[in-house]
Amino acid sequence: MTSSLVKGLVINRKVAISVALLVCLCLLAVLHFSSAGKDPVDVDSGSYLVMGTFARVVAVAKDPDTAQKCIQAGMAEIRRVDDLMSDFKSDSEIGRANTEAAEHPVQVGEWTFEVLRRSAEFSKLTDGAFDVTVGPLVDSFRTAKKTGAAPTQEQIAQARTKVGFEKLELDEQNKTVRFTVQGMRLDLGAIAKGYAVDKAIEAAKHCGAAGAMVDLGGNIRCFGSPPKGRDHWLIGVQDPNSVVEGVGGGGLLLTLKLTDASIATSGDYQQFALIAGKRYSHILDPHTGWSAEGLSSVTIITDNATDADALSTAVSVMGMDMGLALIEKRPNTEAILITSGPTRKIIKTPGAGKYVADTPAHP
Ligand code: ADP
Ligand code: MG
Repeated sequence: MTSSLVKGLVINRKVAISVALLVCLCLLAVLHFSSAGKDPVDVDSGSYLVMGTFARVVAVAKDPDTAQKCIQAGMAEIRRVDDLMSDFKSDSEIGRANTEAAEHPVQVGEWTFEVLRRSAEFSKLTDGAFDVTVGPLVDSFRTAKKTGAAPTQEQIAQARTKVGFEKLELDEQNKTVRFTVQGMRLDLGAIAKGYAVDKAIEAAKHCGAAGAMVDLGGNIRCFGSPPKGRDHWLIGVQDPNSVVEGVGGGGLLLTLKLTDASIATSGDYQQFALIAGKRYSHILDPHTGWSAEGLSSVTIITDNATDADALSTAVSVMGMDMGLALIEKRPNTEAILITSGPTRKIIKTPGAGKYVADTPAHP
């Protein structure tokens, strides 16, 4: 009886071991198949018209649902920045500041105040080449584009009396904006898109994306895992020579490989006014009041999109020598410039080469 009990126990142990082995094998199989099904997926939003340009978000996530949610979250942030900061919308915070800030201090929210604070920092850093109070000059050129007559030197001089970041009062404590001169106008066209891209990337991170790329009219930031089959995010820089005037499009000058970085390109090749046969860039030099000249394209690579946006505009105004000197002083910042004129030259800061990819970006 004892021996049969022992035998029974031995058999039971054998059965138990076999069952355990079988369970382990099944578990391994389940784990294998479930992890195979959990390969990250990448979802591309396609292009949406917002902030006067096209927005595109690509999200990499564990499943299509999460990726879609991250895209929606990113797009929502872009629309929110537009609602707060567009100078075309009279009910935006910037629209309200533009109508009331010469009369009394106008309170704005955290985001708008942050963009204004950073704008003022960029104005100081660039000795006024970057200046969000350019609104009256922008208006002069918008009118000129409509009428077909270039602004006169007197009109430019008159507009310049209402331009200058030192005429803008920002009250950090109360988060208010005040204009010290009647007729001033804020225009965040050179920085708000970059800020919107940063907010969209933050939102994509929060909703669980493993990686994402946001492109808002050439203001691009990416983080984390690139789409399947790639080691980096590949970003194309347009060749200003091959761009059809006023239409955009065109070929790629080069492709950059990025991980956790931003790029922005400013230039006169896509947005300009043709007035009485002369081409005027939409980027204005606040010191002269006239369009910036000398560089046809400025690409900045740095860690966040707000800085890249502001710096690409600033360097367009500062020109090659001063612009390169500024970029070379800044950590984690590189530039690729293309000069204007018939003999266009490409100039890169020494560290820019490491971002240039051999394989071209897919559209
Ligand atoms: P884009 O809007 O084509 O990406 P930018 O980022 O260079 O190009 O921004 C240009 C816009 O910024 C202009 O359309 C105008 O609204 C505004 N702007 C023009 N000149 C300046 C300047 N010197 N400083 C700040 N903003 C500017
Ligand atoms: Mg800019």
